[in-house]
Amino acid sequence: TLSVDDDKDSQRVRVAVRLRPRNADEILSDADFADYIELQPELKRLKLRKNNWNSESYRFDEVFTETASQRRVYEVVAKPVVESVLSGCNGTIMAYGQTGTGKTYTLGRLGKDDASERGIMVRAVEDILANISASDSVEVSYFQLYMEFIQDLLAPEKSNISIQEDPKSGEVSLPGAEVVKVRDLDNFVQSLQLGEGNRYAANTKLNTESSRSHAILMVHIRRYIPGKKVDDINCEEKDTGNNLLGVSDKPVIQKSKLLIVDLAGSERIDKSGSEGHLLEEAKFINLSLTSLGKCINALAEKSPHIPTRESKLTRLLRDSFGGSARSSLLITIGPSSQHHAETASTIMFGQRAM
Ligand code: ADP
Ligand code: MG
Repeated sequence: TLSVDDDKDSQRVRVAVRLRPRNADEILSDADFADYIELQPELKRLKLRKNNWNSESYRFDEVFTETASQRRVYEVVAKPVVESVLSGCNGTIMAYGQTGTGKTYTLGRLGKDDASERGIMVRAVEDILANISASDSVEVSYFQLYMEFIQDLLAPEKSNISIQEDPKSGEVSLPGAEVVKVRDLDNFVQSLQLGEGNRYAANTKLNTESSRSHAILMVHIRRYIPGKKVDDINCEEKDTGNNLLGVSDKPVIQKSKLLIVDLAGSERIDKSGSEGHLLEEAKFINLSLTSLGKCINALAEKSPHIPTRESKLTRLLRDSFGGSARSSLLITIGPSSQHHAETASTIMFGQRAM
């Protein structure tokens, strides 16, 4: 069994770094960052050059080079979270990085023509469907968080959904959000694709880019557990939120949820150069990413207080990270030395969780 300390460590957000392969332009211009970043995957380490004489090493839970497959990233970053969600705990998988570094590729890729390219969202639901029984159910909601407004991506007319928190259990829910029952994987991929289309349309209407909002997939699992004793269920006692609707040897319904979060681009928008709407956007993005950073940091420091009240993003995550919930953060970086300052700051964000 885990010692108290290990148990507390399980609250920490697991962090992996993934380097995107060079694209055609970058190959042509022969861009790379070899002079200031060195990946050492076998040591799960990354070295960042500070100046001509000094470099600093940072450890992560995993370091993926540009040759890492979608399957391997899923196995390492997402699978442990999915397994724990299947056993009744909540969980979160997030991707953080500059626009263009592979967040959406890693999480949201549909892989319709080539299943090997499927991202974490599709693989997670595939894995869940393969591991539940006929009496269990899987439902999804999909929305974007833009300037502190929650917009439904499965029902675009719902553009200001509110967050509800159960004062007793602490359970966070979105009562107004569209919920789609997942019958099979194709049906889920169709929902995701519909959501992508709605996201594009909504952002065109708002005159913004998808990189300025967070896209969040919420997967709800309900499992029917005949005659299972409360003690057999992993999360019950540890949880502040009570995931069980029944007790003792009667059948229980075990509820859990998985959040997969494609965060807004982490690039710092130059506020001095921005005005009006762009400035407002920048403020909200900075607010939510900064508050997320604070929570991740508080979890790493085993702080008894996780400051989740400061933004809608962290309020949504409240019951899905820390406590008995497992969470993973994927830090995505690009290979161009042009963006070395952004890359360094992205890496520092991930380091705060370690
Ligand atoms: P982000 O969501 O962080 O803005 P994207 O996921 O849209 O970035 O990736 C930017 C581009 O790079 C896309 O064309 C995407 O297909 C490509 N890309 C990202 N990661 C990989 C990868 N691991 N392998 C191949 N292409 C990738
Ligand atoms: Mg994206």
